[in-house]
Amino acid sequence: MRYNRCSRCELNYVLKGEELCDICKRELAGKYGDDEVHIEENICPYCEKNKLELDEEMCSYCRNKKLKGKR
Ligand SMILES: [Zn+2]
Ligand SMILES: [Zn+2]
Repeated sequence: MRYNRCSRCELNYVLKGEELCDICKRELAGKYGDDEVHIEENICPYCEKNKLELDEEMCSYCRNKKLKGKR
């Protein structure tokens, strides 16, 4: 088995064929806002499930619900 150094931090070893160690991968994923990582950024406070667009207060699902219930 041959290991290479991570090309980013140059500290951790990575498997052959890989460029980045897990740590760097995770960091990058967080930075680029990958879907799985970083969920808590903008979550609808009402249903606590759906993502919000920038400066939305609630997700469209909850908004619809609220509109329907409103008189
Ligand atoms: Zn690394
Ligand atoms: Zn919601």
